[in-house]
Amino acid sequence: MLLALLLPLHGTPAWSADAGASPDKGMDSGAGMVVPAAFPGTGTPAPIRFLLSFDDGPSAAGSGNPTVNILEKLAHNRWQDGIKAIFFTQTRAWNGGNTDVGRQLIKREHEDGHLVAFHSATMFHANHRFMSTKTLDASLERGVADLTSTTGVAPTLVRPPFWAYDAETLELYHKHGMQMLLTDLNANDGKVYGINFSWHKRANMLKHLAETRKRWAAGSMPAVDGSTPVVVTFHDVNTYTSRHIEEYLEILLDVARELEMPVAAKPFYDERAELERAAMAATVRDAQAKPALPGLWNWLWQ
Ligand SMILES: [Zn+2]
Repeated sequence: MLLALLLPLHGTPAWSADAGASPDKGMDSGAGMVVPAAFPGTGTPAPIRFLLSFDDGPSAAGSGNPTVNILEKLAHNRWQDGIKAIFFTQTRAWNGGNTDVGRQLIKREHEDGHLVAFHSATMFHANHRFMSTKTLDASLERGVADLTSTTGVAPTLVRPPFWAYDAETLELYHKHGMQMLLTDLNANDGKVYGINFSWHKRANMLKHLAETRKRWAAGSMPAVDGSTPVVVTFHDVNTYTSRHIEEYLEILLDVARELEMPVAAKPFYDERAELERAAMAATVRDAQAKPALPGLWNWLWQ
């Protein structure tokens, strides 16, 4: 971690302070209310359904491309074929979205039935809160135009780099037709200086889902189409993640079982429109909401 502190990969690591939490406050800080209760007081909450999302891609690697591997594994794996996910893409990344390989992969993500969304339209993974209004406005316009020309559809969802947002960034996202989706679970698989493996994948997911369970049991998470979406974040540029995605899926199912959380008959989303409805219900629309972020300390690097 010290090494990580000293050698930022994606520009300056930024403290996403707007989450309203600090490491010493722990995961219980804040109300953790993402959205108002959809069905308060109606008894058992709807079973959970994992909404998979992938940040920072696509990769432009010519061989062993991790984004390609993720797409193949989502289509065919041991747990559920035809999984559809959200890809929060970086359209101008010098080593990804802004290359021919990258643009082809964004197109493929859309054609394969996934939901392509926006993460950044700068050469590097830049913090939106550090940009002037004018710069961010132009950046969002560029990103929306990039994705619209590549997929034929304007993005409806955005996830801020470093999870850093404030009232102004949120307002600009809305101005450009996008709602902001954060996450319930985080694989903490952001690519960190060559240390791209996770030591405690299962323990980490268990911890984050246990936190989510409190909100789920309290009826404070939205139910959509009969399920409670639980947003999970990975990084498709991470070759470790791409090689272990089936294991991650197994871990999700396993920790849900351990926490006695019923899972939908199809545990993962498999239809884009339904995926988008679920994601929309989980978006943060108000800068004052300040949801608790899972494993915030680790989020610094992503
Ligand atoms: Zn990112």
